[in-house]
Amino acid sequence: MGYIEPAPLKDRENPFEAMMSRFQIASQLLGLDDEVYNVLKNPAKQVIVSIPITMDDGSIRVFEGYRVIHSNILGPSKGGIRFDKRVNLDEVKALAAWMTWKCAVVDIPYGGAKGGVCCNPREMSRGEMERLVRAYTTSLHEIFGPDKDIPAPDMGTGPREMAWLMDEYSRSQGMTVNSVVTGKPLVLGGSLGRTEATGRGVMVSALAAMEKLKINPYRATCAVQGFGNVGSWAALLLAERGVKVVPISDISGAYYNEKGIDIKKAIEYRDNNNGILEGYTDAEYMDGDDILFMAVDVLVPAATEDVITASKADSIKARLIVEGANGPTSSKADKIIAEMGIMVAPDILANAGGVTVSYFEWVQNRLGYKWTEERVNRRSDRIMKDAFDKVYKVSVQYNVPMRIAAYIVAIDKVAKTYKYRGGF
Ligand code: NAD
Repeated sequence: MGYIEPAPLKDRENPFEAMMSRFQIASQLLGLDDEVYNVLKNPAKQVIVSIPITMDDGSIRVFEGYRVIHSNILGPSKGGIRFDKRVNLDEVKALAAWMTWKCAVVDIPYGGAKGGVCCNPREMSRGEMERLVRAYTTSLHEIFGPDKDIPAPDMGTGPREMAWLMDEYSRSQGMTVNSVVTGKPLVLGGSLGRTEATGRGVMVSALAAMEKLKINPYRATCAVQGFGNVGSWAALLLAERGVKVVPISDISGAYYNEKGIDIKKAIEYRDNNNGILEGYTDAEYMDGDDILFMAVDVLVPAATEDVITASKADSIKARLIVEGANGPTSSKADKIIAEMGIMVAPDILANAGGVTVSYFEWVQNRLGYKWTEERVNRRSDRIMKDAFDKVYKVSVQYNVPMRIAAYIVAIDKVAKTYKYRGGF
């Protein structure tokens, strides 16, 4: 396959560099003019807030919070809120741009954003967390809005935090506005099917790619790295469609069973074992990293970023990689993988099932109506399959790997919309 060298980057890759190197390649191939390139390269808005919180011991701590809106060209911006001690502006900027491309690739009418607070949620009490979420929301209530910017959970936040955010924003407006945030608990207007949505999209992408590669799911083997929300649902849904998931892994190591892991049993074990697979006996224990190098047809990295690096890429034996995680492959590994002829269903495509069902949550809230799970699944499967087919077509047309094709589809859509809308 044709491959263009990315512009030289520093040795260590951060999310911003990883995103920019793919963005540059796709923009070059599209022949994007400099003006539009500069518009899309730079975030539309970056807000930094200082959030003083009274801690349980009576002391006052000041946290730094961010909200970056990369683009609102396609519609209101959408993106999660990360609570983590490593959160910084550069990372939030990259993740916001990532959201722009992800929404554009699956053709949902959103721009991209991301937020974060530099804190350690594991060391904070429930009360401290609640005060932090409410204060963060108050600081940003003029940024957020169902037609402006719609947050969602990310690392360190979940339905509980989204409920507080919804409530605090609603207070600022003097009425209940549940469409300001997605990923809410079901009773507050969350959507059926949201929990499994990302794993389900990974399954749909994997089956679509297997069809192109003429891999019969009933004869295929698969390795799934990460057994959290995305990994366990992807594994379960793939297994239900005949794929034999032989190794699974999490932070405690990898677990291999040549007859296929009983995924339901493994999920049950994890749920009764503090959320980890440690001590799982229905399989052989292996070193965690080895899962990347197993002789399987399909590899699903669904744990964390930057696991497939340039030094590991050439030991991969799978014919297909379906990226459940965000940024599991470094941009330097892209080239090696492309040269090995391995197909990659890239993150901005393969894990977009989550944001798609978040969009459905927002649609349902605005309609004041609730869809059945069957309707949610049917519609998200169709969006995921259509997006895959479109990206595949562009990868053939430009003779480029699927990742670059996904960026081409996304950037082309945002750039064309920008040109129609015009500017100053
Ligand atoms: P999670 O916290 O539920 O699960 C993460 C899993 O990965 C856990 O099983 C953990 O033990 C494991 N893990 C962590 N580090 C590991 C390592 N070095 N090696 C092996 N396993 C490791 O998280 P999640 O929601 O499933 O998200 C996983 C990835 O998918 C992240 O990159 C996230 O950004 C991305 N993602 C999630 C969603 C979503 O809807 N949850 C949507 C899009 C993308």
